[in-house]
Amino acid sequence: MVADNSVALVTGGGSGIGRETALEFAAEGARVVVADVDVKGGEGTIADIEADGGDALFVETDVTDAAETEAMVEAAVEEYGSLDYAFNNAGIGGDSATVEEYDAESWESVIDVNLVGVFKCMQAEIAQMKQQDAGGVVVNNSSILGKVGFATSSGYVAAKHGVLGLTKTAALENGETGVRVNAVCPGFIDTPLLREGGMEEGSELREQIANKHAMNRLGTPEEVASAVLWLCDDDASFVTGEALGVDGGYLAQ
Ligand code: NAP
Repeated sequence: MVADNSVALVTGGGSGIGRETALEFAAEGARVVVADVDVKGGEGTIADIEADGGDALFVETDVTDAAETEAMVEAAVEEYGSLDYAFNNAGIGGDSATVEEYDAESWESVIDVNLVGVFKCMQAEIAQMKQQDAGGVVVNNSSILGKVGFATSSGYVAAKHGVLGLTKTAALENGETGVRVNAVCPGFIDTPLLREGGMEEGSELREQIANKHAMNRLGTPEEVASAVLWLCDDDASFVTGEALGVDGGYLAQ
């Protein structure tokens, strides 16, 4: 369990994996800050947390903008007094094309959101956590595609590999500061991002992708959220710099 009354920040908390993780933090007694560009989605998550008796705050945030990521952390501290856990999860899919045909603008935006955005969030979060007696925990959302390639997804794959490099480096820098830094590497998870990427229910692509996992199915947002919460828990007190697979055996082969 994460500490009661602790403060958890989730970027991209208006949908999919981020939404579910925000709900699970709240269910364990944390006060939750949801940051997203999607106001409707973010406010929807807050409404669901409050309906269950939880305490949550929405901060409209574009993770590609350093002024906004700093304001996001400031809002958390102003409202709740500290920042104990941060899940850097906001992300997009990017183009689907070979390297030589990949759209340059899409390359820039997928690197900007999925890699530079994580960097900007970490800068603001770690600076805050280091000032706190209790330190804090950062979890970054990478992917199995942070460990292996995937044809026609070069921008996404490059960004997710970069997230693991950032995670390990920040973990080394913070070995003695009381801030742990880890990543989760989900397999293919059934979320709006995936469905909008051509893997809607009943599609052939969805079936093919599901079968790449040893468990022959997609993962659920709940299964990723559980791993994030475990990494935040004191049970994981000696875990830092780790890239934890949540992939139904995708990378076991
Ligand atoms: P999702 O349902 O699309 O949720 C992502 C959320 O992030 C959306 O609300 C999105 O808003 C928001 N967002 C996008 N750009 C943002 C920005 N610049 N600043 C702040 N928020 C932003 O996606 P998901 O599948 O849950 O994915 C969440 C994370 O998990 C991503 O980092 C993804 O790469 C990673 N992941 C997903 C899978 C999978 O199979 N689903 C597997 C491994 C890793 P909009 O909807 O308005 O864009």
